[in-house]
Amino acid sequence: MMKAILYEGPESVSLKDIPVPAIADEEVLVQVEACGLCGTDLVKIFNGHLQPPVPLGHEVAGRVAQAGPRVRGFKKGDRVIVAHHVPCLKCHYCLRGNPSMCRHFKRTNLDPGGFSQFVRASKDHVEHAMLKIPESLDLKTACLTEPLACALRNARRLDLQAGDLAVVIGLGSIGLMTAQILSRRQVTVIGFDLDPQRVRIAQKSGVDHVYTGKDGHGEDLVMKLTDFRGADALILTSGAPDIVAQRLCWVRDGGKVNIFASFHPESRATLDLNSVYHRELTLLSSYSPALEDLREALRMLAAGEIKTDPYTTNAYPFERFQEAIRQVRGREILKAIILPQKG
Ligand SMILES: [Zn+2]
Ligand SMILES: [Zn+2]
Repeated sequence: MMKAILYEGPESVSLKDIPVPAIADEEVLVQVEACGLCGTDLVKIFNGHLQPPVPLGHEVAGRVAQAGPRVRGFKKGDRVIVAHHVPCLKCHYCLRGNPSMCRHFKRTNLDPGGFSQFVRASKDHVEHAMLKIPESLDLKTACLTEPLACALRNARRLDLQAGDLAVVIGLGSIGLMTAQILSRRQVTVIGFDLDPQRVRIAQKSGVDHVYTGKDGHGEDLVMKLTDFRGADALILTSGAPDIVAQRLCWVRDGGKVNIFASFHPESRATLDLNSVYHRELTLLSSYSPALEDLREALRMLAAGEIKTDPYTTNAYPFERFQEAIRQVRGREILKAIILPQKG
């Protein structure tokens, strides 16, 4: 038997004893050492109105506990990260750069989910979405691979150049990671978050300009820093849906908007399509990472290219899962990492 956090219905999760999943010959059983709590886990628990079972936890780092006899490349004891979804790599979506829209990607998942002491990784996971963790990297930091990969794809979709300016709205972990990645690429970043604590964390993480935006000087600043052109890109990782319409005037002619956020309870917004047309604006979104982003994220973490302590400071044993949820929802902390082996 093992311990796992199970979703029991809207707003209800609990720590349960369930059987350790059995693996087939081509599969791997991973002992989960660290799993990040993602905003989407909270959406599933609190906004989803989903029917159980709902897998929770997908930012997994751990050790191979058992490798089936037909597994190649992994053996017991290997430290690994494993992503939850795996693209098929051959469908219409996969071949056109939308692996996260692949139907196989959406169907695949870890069994039973990352907030468990063990997860079963299928043959597809083992072949494509499981990566060995370089020795220099600790497991708590390695579980940031998936969210960092999300941020990498977020940045990749925008295809910005050195010297460009991007506005990032929302400085939660995805917003901040995206800002850090762009800063490394010599893109000037102006970050906004209503929460002064998140603004301070972003400041300490090396983001060029960060503000709460409460003084209403956001637009002046964007214009001043761009010779009055406007930002090359606007990246939205949180906020109300109307903010897209309200901040379109911050984007330069020919600029891009990228949405990486889900909106609750209301997700509709009214957009001025004449402005989109006459100003040749591009509206993008980015959902989940591609396999190459996972590999690049793990490389960056191992190379120490990203300051990670804002995300790894708060780790919780299984028994304190509810506290982790409370602190993240209450915006007391930026990110929580769950340690399923610690009781
Ligand atoms: Zn996530
Ligand atoms: Zn596919």
